[in-house]
Amino acid sequence: MTAIDTSIGPDRARELFRAELADVRTDAELQALRTRWVGRKGSWVAAFMEALATATPEQKKTFGRGANELKKEVEATIAEREAALAAARRPAHAVDITLPGRTPALGHRHPLSLIRDEVGAIFTRLGYQVLEGPEIEDDYHNFEALNMPEEHPARDMQDTLYLATPTFASADASVGRPRGKAPWPPQPLTLLRTHTSAMQIRHMEQNAPPVRLVAIGPVYRKDNLDLTHTPMFHQVEGLVVGKGVTLADLKGTLAAMAEALFGAGTGVRFRPSFFPYTEPSAEVDIQCIKCKGAGCAMCKRTGWIEILGSGMVHPAVFEAVGYDPNEITGFAFGMGVERVALLKWGVEDIRLFYENDLRFLEQFGL
Ligand SMILES: [Zn+2]
Repeated sequence: MTAIDTSIGPDRARELFRAELADVRTDAELQALRTRWVGRKGSWVAAFMEALATATPEQKKTFGRGANELKKEVEATIAEREAALAAARRPAHAVDITLPGRTPALGHRHPLSLIRDEVGAIFTRLGYQVLEGPEIEDDYHNFEALNMPEEHPARDMQDTLYLATPTFASADASVGRPRGKAPWPPQPLTLLRTHTSAMQIRHMEQNAPPVRLVAIGPVYRKDNLDLTHTPMFHQVEGLVVGKGVTLADLKGTLAAMAEALFGAGTGVRFRPSFFPYTEPSAEVDIQCIKCKGAGCAMCKRTGWIEILGSGMVHPAVFEAVGYDPNEITGFAFGMGVERVALLKWGVEDIRLFYENDLRFLEQFGL
């Protein structure tokens, strides 16, 4: 800022004013500039007017015009800048959109959902349909059609949760009368399904072979809650029916699934077993994912871990749904979703999946 000295002339003074204006950033600075240049007393313009009073007539001519132009320019440009500052000013209580935002807390997907989706994706790639089914079932679809007639000793293998009040399925006009031996009109729904196998029956009753499906969903048993049991858990049930389906197809399918779920090179072995709805039946073990078969605490030093039950579909099941067992064959398998999750992540207590403890759930992906 230069001291007021009118001897420099109005043109030079105008350059000084422009330089000072260029540095103005705030309203206060602009007001100070206005006082200094066009204020009533002690301003540049006032000083020029005073100097004019004592000037010669010749000086008045040029000096006077220059001083007037200076005054006009100062007033006009200050008004302009004032308007620009006002336009840029933030209104009172405005939101400052340049502040960094708060990151919204994103949830994590439940580990059982991750397994369910992964298994669904594996079988979708293999050309399977992924289905869900009713969780409340009738006796026929949960037991009888699966070769477990009343009084069949195999019914004791599963402790069933029965409804206090039986209910009826809502009428679905798009689903016609089922094929095969299904009772008509439909039986009342009396129980919570003990396995997803009931869904196999419902699908086969409505569809001719070939069949290639996985049913995934919750099932219920009268189990007490402990480290490895819950009254509700999830099953993946697979069913393939067609001409010439063999045990070799079952083994190849489960070997592919084991590798997809637990990593390349995961071996499987079949042990003879018994299920009413398959013949022959087999329990399937995978090579221990921790010790790779060498023997450790997790596999009880055997190198193998039981993962699912499977077998070739029993002819009585085909007869129940109106398929001709002389024409077609099929295989089925059922696997616990929780069991896979326990093994895959080394979780030791199944209850963690149901306690909604964020410290546990946040360890899994999105
Ligand atoms: Zn092991």
